[in-house]
Amino acid sequence: MILPDDERVIDPAAPQYNATLVRRVDITDDLAYFWVKYDEEPVPFESGQYMTTGVFADGKLWQRPYSVASAPRVAGTEGYELYVRLVPIIRFTTLLWRLPVGHRMRMIGPKGKFLLEPNDRRTHLFISTGTGIAPFMSMIRETMAAGHPRKTVVLHGCSYVEELGYREELEDLQRDRAYPLSYVPTISRPNDQRNAGWTGRTGRAENVVRDVCHDLHLRPDQTVVYICGNPDMILNAESVLMEHGFPEFHVKKELYWPKGKVAPVGAG
Ligand SMILES: Cc1cc2nc3c(=O)[nH]c(=O)nc-3n(C[C@H](O)[C@H](O)[C@H](O)COP(=O)(O)OP(=O)(O)OC[C@H]3O[C@@H](n4cnc5c(N)ncnc54)[C@H](O)[C@@H]3O)c2cc1C
Repeated sequence: MILPDDERVIDPAAPQYNATLVRRVDITDDLAYFWVKYDEEPVPFESGQYMTTGVFADGKLWQRPYSVASAPRVAGTEGYELYVRLVPIIRFTTLLWRLPVGHRMRMIGPKGKFLLEPNDRRTHLFISTGTGIAPFMSMIRETMAAGHPRKTVVLHGCSYVEELGYREELEDLQRDRAYPLSYVPTISRPNDQRNAGWTGRTGRAENVVRDVCHDLHLRPDQTVVYICGNPDMILNAESVLMEHGFPEFHVKKELYWPKGKVAPVGAG
């Protein structure tokens, strides 16, 4: 990926910092997991919520909302885990990519109503593309740790196999029957060289959702649907589900940017 020169000067000592970047794991050159930990006691949150996370540069606070991928119960020990895509324009993520582990950050929150319903015994269909899988990881990890797993189908769409974040963890949960989970990754560019050897499902998430419902016998009256990430995917998937008989109130949505805003080239 060709990145624009980001010459903003990051301020390491801004007094408003209240958290630290404690760990980072790169998945590809534009996808990474980050862990940010509060200096003091962590602020409680619920799975599905997001934290606004920021850095000071050129005398200004640059901040963006991020869904938390970790379970709320580990915020005090591991920090808040974020799953982020680098967007190749000079805004927040180019700053985040330059940030060394140990750097101070500003975190506020939580916010958001993209939450599990208490004691919901319906099957949970979690649909996402790219980094939109983050809140679902928190939901699965938390319900598992609490001993209240929910029957769940995770439909995750990406362009390339290497972009299937959390794949190993989800495959392990499914294989070991540690969680009542069906993991359904789908690759939208099957003919690309980077996907050579992929034998799983192909097609965009919104185009395979009908088949997934059919194959896994997901009945509209017994399924609750959560969709997160790219707004076009969300609206397309929702309309497929409506045609398939899902009532609107059985579908919850979290849009990562407003519909109509085209992602810059390379943002996936
Ligand atoms: C409630 C909420 C939760 C969010 N959670 C996450 C998260 O967990 N992980 C994450 O990576 N982003 C998440 N985002 C998006 C995030 O806040 C930033 O917009 C994004 O990281 C890009 O920041 P930026 O400043 O570099 O560019 P921005 O100016 O914020 O965005 C520029 C453009 O980049 C594109 N874009 C934004 N986010 C993404 C993305 N994730 N993948 C591909 N293209 C994108 C859109 O076209 C957007 O208009 C979330 C947004 C919201 C509203």
